[in-house]
Amino acid sequence: MSAPLTPEAAREIVLGEVVPLSGEPVALEECLGRVTAEEVKSALAIQPFDNSAMDGYALHAADTAGEQPRLRLVGESRAGHPAEVPVGEGEAIWISTGAMVPGGADAVLPVEDAAEEDGFLLPRRAVAAGEHVRRAGEDVEAGETLIAPGSRIGAAEIAVLAAAGIAEVGCAARPRVAVLGSGDELVPPGQPLGPGQIHDSNGFALAALVHEAGSEVDRLVRLPDQAAATREAIGDALDCDALLVAGGVSVGRHDHVKGALAALGVKERFWRVAMRPGGPTWFGVLPREGARPTLVFGIPGNPVSAMVTFSLFARPALRAMQGLEPLPGRTRAALATAYRKKPGKAHYLRCRLELTDDGWRAHLTRERQGSHILTSMLGAEALAVIPADREEVAAGEQIEIELLSK
Ligand code: AMP
Ligand code: MG
Repeated sequence: MSAPLTPEAAREIVLGEVVPLSGEPVALEECLGRVTAEEVKSALAIQPFDNSAMDGYALHAADTAGEQPRLRLVGESRAGHPAEVPVGEGEAIWISTGAMVPGGADAVLPVEDAAEEDGFLLPRRAVAAGEHVRRAGEDVEAGETLIAPGSRIGAAEIAVLAAAGIAEVGCAARPRVAVLGSGDELVPPGQPLGPGQIHDSNGFALAALVHEAGSEVDRLVRLPDQAAATREAIGDALDCDALLVAGGVSVGRHDHVKGALAALGVKERFWRVAMRPGGPTWFGVLPREGARPTLVFGIPGNPVSAMVTFSLFARPALRAMQGLEPLPGRTRAALATAYRKKPGKAHYLRCRLELTDDGWRAHLTRERQGSHILTSMLGAEALAVIPADREEVAAGEQIEIELLSK
């Protein structure tokens, strides 16, 4: 048997099979979490006109310089209602925050720094030219790029797009993902357990992870440990962009997934990765005439393995399909406690991160890190990577971490 693949090599194989999805127009209200498929430019300057930063008076700065100046009040500029007259020499116009600075004016005297008397303004101090005036285009010039392609759209992006008057954005299509969980022992939450039964958690975990990765759960199917049913359900789902088949992938007498995939023409690209959790991971591709290939992830059934292998292999693929960087982030942190293991496999430890004066510190979420200790995923912000060849990592030693963000 050839040496099992390293997780890095396995991820390279997965990413080598990714074909990016095409773009589609998406309404601004719908684009939270989507990824831009093109550069977005602003047709408008933001803001589009010179406007006041304060409630006060628009005037000529020079008119506030002399001894006890007195300026005639000749009009008003309100937000959305510009003044009808320009400001002449020796004149002033009431102005609201955000209102257009009238022609002729070059500064705004705040209301706090002035008094009024019989239709005249009495400035209490001199203002400099440009004071409290927000220039057109100070934030964005007309024609400027707002958002680069391959950016995830969050609240800030939506705000900037709205400010630029953009109601529709070209976004990468959302990957359509089928989640199939196999096992005769599985019972949905809400139903009582019989002897030897457990509740299905992988289906829910994987569907949630798919959502978080900006993708669409095309279907969520629970499969019996039965060859024909497994083959039929997988065959029906192969028109999706990706399949996550959890459980039944291994070499047990009742594991039917690999046989079904082979019979359906899905080409194996790897089986088994030198890692823990998640060693028994399978990956294959169905080439499709005139269409993108379908990526198939055979995900180990143990609940932690399922979530970790999704994060290491499926999430990067779903991100890359949308034009994002495959990995959400990698850095180094000090492992808070010593860790011992056998050499041969890389270990991925679930960690919570703490920012200390000496940089990031990674704390195991739980001392027990077995692939069945699902609560070790609670509060996990990163996976700490203990390389395959290491037997011991000392407390405080710097190790690589992979962020678990979306
Ligand atoms: P398998 O990969 O089918 O050999 O399953 C490995 C382990 O994961 C077994 O203990 C299964 O009971 C468990 N398992 C498989 N599928 C699920 C699931 N959907 N939810 C929770 N546990 C599962
Ligand atoms: Mg099983």
